Amino acid sequence: MPQKKYPMEHDKKIALVAHDNKKRDLVEWAKFNRVLLAHHQIYATGTTGKILETQLGLKIIRLKSGPLGGDQQIGAKIVENKVDFLIFFWDPLEPQPHDPDVKALLRMAVVWNIPIACNRASADFMISSPLMDKVYDRLVPDYDTYTTRKIELGEKSS
Ligand code: PGA
Repeated sequence: MPQKKYPMEHDKKIALVAHDNKKRDLVEWAKFNRVLLAHHQIYATGTTGKILETQLGLKIIRLKSGPLGGDQQIGAKIVENKVDFLIFFWDPLEPQPHDPDVKALLRMAVVWNIPIACNRASADFMISSPLMDKVYDRLVPDYDTYTTRKIELGEKSS
């Protein structure tokens, strides 16, 4: 499939999400990386965003709480190219009421080829990448081939 370039600017549009048992991890990580995060545009699900705003003193664009649709809002922003980087500390040991939304969000991140970190080590490697402070052309499959595919409707039976 041919590919299209989606430029990721010098200042990235980063979404931060953590399940309750992982919020402490995310806060520690974000505090440690506060200076690196400061010039990016930060989005977060409701509760994660509220905690991060207090703890970091950074402006955060807060969406709905995850179980109330926040994960889906981030997924939609990925589709609209309004979020291009995802740090998502999901909890592997607890079922969540919004498990389908979690899966959908991770799926959208893969569909649109955006960097995702689901644990601290990955987030550390990503945030310290030299690519963080550069314009980066993200390659995304050209889905026009898919959206213009031929659909056989068959004969209408009377
Ligand atoms: P929260 O949502 O930040 O509102 O707790 C996170 C999530 O569960 O997706």
